[in-house]
Amino acid sequence: MTQPVSLGLTLQKFSIHDGPGIRTTVFFKGCPLRCSWCHNPESQSYRAELLYDAEKCTQCLRCLPHCPQQAITASAATDRNLCRACGECSDHCLHGARQIAGRAISPAELLPQLLADQVFYEQSGGGVTFSGGEPLSHIDVLETLAQESKRHRLHVCVDTCGHAPAESFRRSLRYTDLFLFDLKHMDPAKHRLYTGQDNRLILANLRLLSDFGANIFLRLPLIEGINADSENIAATLAFAKTLRLRQVNLLPYHATGRSKYARLGRADETGEQLKPPTPDRLEEIRHQFAAAGFDTHIGG
Ligand code: SF4
Ligand code: SF4
Repeated sequence: MTQPVSLGLTLQKFSIHDGPGIRTTVFFKGCPLRCSWCHNPESQSYRAELLYDAEKCTQCLRCLPHCPQQAITASAATDRNLCRACGECSDHCLHGARQIAGRAISPAELLPQLLADQVFYEQSGGGVTFSGGEPLSHIDVLETLAQESKRHRLHVCVDTCGHAPAESFRRSLRYTDLFLFDLKHMDPAKHRLYTGQDNRLILANLRLLSDFGANIFLRLPLIEGINADSENIAATLAFAKTLRLRQVNLLPYHATGRSKYARLGRADETGEQLKPPTPDRLEEIRHQFAAAGFDTHIGG
């Protein structure tokens, strides 16, 4: 267990939205997609990044002399071209204004943290969830962690955007109890427009998992004007009917996390325009999937 795993900000303990029961979620850093509605933008880059919260910063400048790159300015802002995300500044900020997203940790260090809550997993039917970013981008580390989790009889979920080599999915089948599989759009051109990649590999991987008989919760993020229209929902439903799915989760867009774009020094170009479908439209979509025989939930 020597490979390092690059995590996002933290492990999430006592998570109840990343699979059944009470879970610990491991966020791998790095994702092949760039969804315009992403509420975890700190998980997109494969490199460590500095999050700087100007609202928490008192401009005391305690951090300034500790930056080896001279990246911190006299107004306590950060020159992103100089910053190497070393984390020295965050160690010296008393106000929590500076945090590093992405730290290397070995599976051997991580595993005890996953096992610590075993009693809660057992009582609630929970376990561990590997999420991201895209966990299958880190297949060797994922395999080590998931196999060790299974050796301790933990329930293992993999939360995936589906964009990874088919071979990685084949390997993950050996130790994954449940896949939380996101599907963003059925039209390849629109998928590319909104996420940066087309959907061919994603649809093929979803078919591969279904043909193998994997347990799959299909998760549909729903954004008004992007993928909640009748045409896309009909196409999604038609495809879903050809698969073996345990559950369908409808995930209406929410704006939580948009402030992280500013903290990463990135412009939030689309945030203001994004909206969830209306409650009536959401219920209509739920009814369509439920009427087709799917165990369908809003949220999850
Ligand atoms: S130490 Fe923290 S609060 Fe003080 S200037 Fe630096 S970021 Fe701001
Ligand atoms: S993370 Fe390192 S390089 Fe970046 S501003 Fe802080 S101390 Fe400087």
